[in-house]
Amino acid sequence: MKRKTFVKALPFMISGTQAFLNELAAMPATELTPAFFIGHGSPMNAIMDNPFTKDITAATQLLRKPQAIMVVSAHWLTNDTFVSTNKFPKTIYDFGGFPDALSKVKYEPSGSIEYALKVKELLTLSHVKNDDYMGLDHGAWSILKHMYPNADVPVFQLSIDINKPSAYHYDLIKNLSSLRRKGLMIIGSGNIVHNLGRLNWRTPNAEPYDWTIEFDTYVKQHLDNKNHEALINYLKAGASAQMAVPTNDHYLPLLYVLGVQEKRETVKYIHHSFDMGSISMRSFMLAES
Ligand code: ZN
Repeated sequence: MKRKTFVKALPFMISGTQAFLNELAAMPATELTPAFFIGHGSPMNAIMDNPFTKDITAATQLLRKPQAIMVVSAHWLTNDTFVSTNKFPKTIYDFGGFPDALSKVKYEPSGSIEYALKVKELLTLSHVKNDDYMGLDHGAWSILKHMYPNADVPVFQLSIDINKPSAYHYDLIKNLSSLRRKGLMIIGSGNIVHNLGRLNWRTPNAEPYDWTIEFDTYVKQHLDNKNHEALINYLKAGASAQMAVPTNDHYLPLLYVLGVQEKRETVKYIHHSFDMGSISMRSFMLAES
């Protein structure tokens, strides 16, 4: 932009920002809305009644209903960062080889363009783009079906730019703390340990591998002492990290939750188990203690 043009445009840029700030200020304030990390595991959990689904169902029952939910799912990976601005997101069946019953599930709350556009404005580290067609992937609906079974809270997703380093994801989300005080619930949906190549199919209730336990323990320890650097730089855990996180798609949603953790908040575990040896189902919420 030539300087003359820029100077001309400046008052509009400022008034646009001011208008946004006014809009934000006008939204009714709420208490700090809890944020969640859910280890979603198999898509079958959507239609199961087991200790995991019971725990995530119980976790939201006593909470004030949020105004909107933003899910950062391991299953929406993109080049660049996108926010879904679809008024009526459809259920996406982004898996194969599961019983028909799973593809008959419909979880279709409305979207929230209002909150999605606020997110877009606040995430200044990146030029976030709209996606008007994105539905809800199974990382979102398979857990929300238990957490908000009536689908009566608007839901939208934020994608994960898979080209970016770990620290980017943590830094990107930081600005969203303010929206948590305007009723936005943020949910990261992935798994702390997720190695599909090493799933134990032969033994029901297979014991976790040593490296599954080791890496899960490393993460728990640093969640407990709020050492976010150790969680961003998770490869420092050594060989167990290489096995537990062979690709980082299911790990990165964790960093989106930690990025909005406030000083007074602590991690409250809502579920912990292992599945098929190489999946950690550890799930937690952030809440003021
Ligand atoms: Zn998954």
